Amino acid sequence: MTSLLIFMLGASLASFLTAWADRYPASILYPPSHCSTCQQALAWWDLVPILSYIKLGGSCRSCQEPIPLASFTNEIQGGLIAYAWLQSWLTSPWLLFLFMSLMLSHFDRKSCSFPLCFWLVPHTTLTLTTGWQLSPVFLLLALVCYFVPSGIGAGDWTYMASLALLLPLKALLIILQLACCLALLTFWYKKRKGVLPFLPFLHRASLLWLLGHHFSFF
Ligand SMILES: [Zn+2]
Repeated sequence: MTSLLIFMLGASLASFLTAWADRYPASILYPPSHCSTCQQALAWWDLVPILSYIKLGGSCRSCQEPIPLASFTNEIQGGLIAYAWLQSWLTSPWLLFLFMSLMLSHFDRKSCSFPLCFWLVPHTTLTLTTGWQLSPVFLLLALVCYFVPSGIGAGDWTYMASLALLLPLKALLIILQLACCLALLTFWYKKRKGVLPFLPFLHRASLLWLLGHHFSFF
């Protein structure tokens, strides 16, 4: 029962963070939850994480417009992250990092950037918990990339600066390589051209690394 409760709490938090990122910079509190296409207000039974999406078949009850799949996958991720924390597979700093990662990834997918405050608050909290570690190196890279744009953006390096609070250099390099491979596969599979938001790949690579580490693969 506790496991289910924590899973649903994690899914609800992910749902809230996703909605906040979708609405930003508008208020998350007002107007109440509504369909972004037809503006129809949502009833409470349309807001149950994961279950409502399945019940509605992934589309709005009023206008039948598809609800973004990312909302659904973020809720599942949030539930699994919280469950992994409950099982002590993740520490509390990792719990904070992964929810930050999930939200920044959603921002980046939408607009190829994220508001600095959504990174700064969790990053500062993590730094107070773990110490600086390798973080300043990546912050310096972020600063350089901010003034001299290159392939990987300043936001991606600031993300790595947070990850560097939790992992040694070898693991960080593995995650960077995994993220590059995933991005290349997406370019190839979807035949995409132009700018690809890289942070969602770093987020997925971090999750893959954690999974691999849990099963002693890394
Ligand atoms: Zn609608």
